[in-house]
Amino acid sequence: MPQKGAHGRRLHLPRGKVLGGSHALNACIWVRGDSADYDAWEEMGNSGWGWSDVLPFFKKIENFDGGASATRGGDGPLDVRENFRRNPLQESMVEAAQQAGHTLNPDYNSGDVEGISRMQLNLRDGERFNVWHAYLRPVADHKNLTLITDARVEKVLFDGNRARGVLLHQEGSPKKYWQIPSFFQPVHWVAPKFFCVRAWGRVPS
Ligand SMILES: Cc1cc2nc3c(=O)[nH]c(=O)nc-3n(C[C@H](O)[C@H](O)[C@H](O)COP(=O)(O)OP(=O)(O)OC[C@H]3O[C@@H](n4cnc5c(N)ncnc54)[C@H](O)[C@@H]3O)c2cc1C
Repeated sequence: MPQKGAHGRRLHLPRGKVLGGSHALNACIWVRGDSADYDAWEEMGNSGWGWSDVLPFFKKIENFDGGASATRGGDGPLDVRENFRRNPLQESMVEAAQQAGHTLNPDYNSGDVEGISRMQLNLRDGERFNVWHAYLRPVADHKNLTLITDARVEKVLFDGNRARGVLLHQEGSPKKYWQIPSFFQPVHWVAPKFFCVRAWGRVPS
């Protein structure tokens, strides 16, 4: 719809409402960001968000075809590819940028994003490889996992500071509470009218 704050324009805001989220429709470009930004966020009071804090997690995620190093991961579940066939025009751009005085950055995911680089992509066998492929699909049949699609979460229910369940709405069905299975066994659906968020602890079936 037209946005008042954008001079009445309609904005195109695509979101991936599918398994894999927006990683299922994004441009596949793997960008971790600049170490200086993370360190600045930490200095602003966000402890645990400094580059040295997040780097081990980035490394754990990656299966980088450039190999493992002090800054890159080589055996994570998400493929990151820098060795793929590029259009000759792209190589010309890399060359032209250097001729114009920009430094070649051999790895913009090393913590320094300055300079001209070749893009790294989330690909496997030349095709998109996203978080659904990397994390969820391999365990999709696991008995402890239930995948519910075409459903909108309206509330996350907390017991203290732990999320214990969600209020789900599926088109055409009444809203239902879904409890986090590890907390209550056996797993079951409960109707909202029998359920009290503040009394979370015992759920009538
Ligand atoms: C067109 C496009 C191109 C992009 N290109 C790139 C790129 O090349 N490189 C890059 O690094 N980043 C890119 N991005 C950004 C990147 O894809 C997102 O930042 C990233 O996917 C966000 O991940 P997320 O897990 O936070 O959220 P999302 O990927 O949006 O995942 C959220 C998931 O939760 C679900 N969800 C949300 N609310 C509810 C609810 N109430 N009930 C039930 N389910 C819900 C959604 O359906 C979705 O499956 C791009 C984004 C877009 C849209």
